Amino acid sequence: MTDTKGGFLSVEDDPWNKSMSTGTSANSSTAEQKPAHISATEWERLQVRKKLEKNKAGPFEPGLSVLADPTTRKRCRECGSVEIDFVWEEVFRCAVCNPCKEKYPEKYSLLTKTECKEDYLLTDPELKDQELLPHLSKPNPHKSHWHDMMLFLRYQVEDYAFNHKWGSAEALDAEFERREAEKKRRKEAKFKEKLLDLKRKTRTEAFRRNNAMAGAGEGGSRPAKFGDAIGGRERHVHEWGRAVENEDGMTVKKCVSCGMEVEELEL
Ligand SMILES: [Zn+2]
Ligand SMILES: [Zn+2]
Repeated sequence: MTDTKGGFLSVEDDPWNKSMSTGTSANSSTAEQKPAHISATEWERLQVRKKLEKNKAGPFEPGLSVLADPTTRKRCRECGSVEIDFVWEEVFRCAVCNPCKEKYPEKYSLLTKTECKEDYLLTDPELKDQELLPHLSKPNPHKSHWHDMMLFLRYQVEDYAFNHKWGSAEALDAEFERREAEKKRRKEAKFKEKLLDLKRKTRTEAFRRNNAMAGAGEGGSRPAKFGDAIGGRERHVHEWGRAVENEDGMTVKKCVSCGMEVEELEL
């Protein structure tokens, strides 16, 4: 038993799985008091294990533990080898040998929770439901204080996503496309809103400027209208200067006669 000091017991170290692969029960204790050399977590695990063993439940169910019997012995679902991965057998209920895992990555590669969410549009509640989709818990290799990584078996994820959740691979694709289109639509709507805002702002700014100038020129007798000539009767036509970058990093151009600034948008 190696203590990773991160509060994790790796799958390989789990005595539960050891008992699955060798059929021994070396760790089953008869003492009711926790021996000093066993951690509290480990003690709790052993108690649960003892109970299951006593009730012939879980992995101690007859038929699962009878590894020696050639008729009931689990074999690789691909090649029939008896050298299956017992951790996978227990966690995923999938009997497969290591060479076959390598040989058929389209079935037996492991997917992270993020991949399941992004590629198969599955949700957190679905992924946390062990009955729906079993997963292996692996300590995060880089960040020991992070949550354990949840790893899912590809063919099980695909079966659930295609056949139970979305109906087919095509239906999943369609849903994916729909969401992408929706994202794009929302982004465009946001951009249009921003553009409209800018137009409003520019108009208000021009009005304020004209108003102030008209007020100064005519003693505030009449409010200037947008587009009014400054201090005169004629309609003002802006004379735009060269586009320059202002301090906010926006490209702006300024009317040389009234000073109005407009932002230039790259569309
Ligand atoms: Zn095999
Ligand atoms: Zn102008």
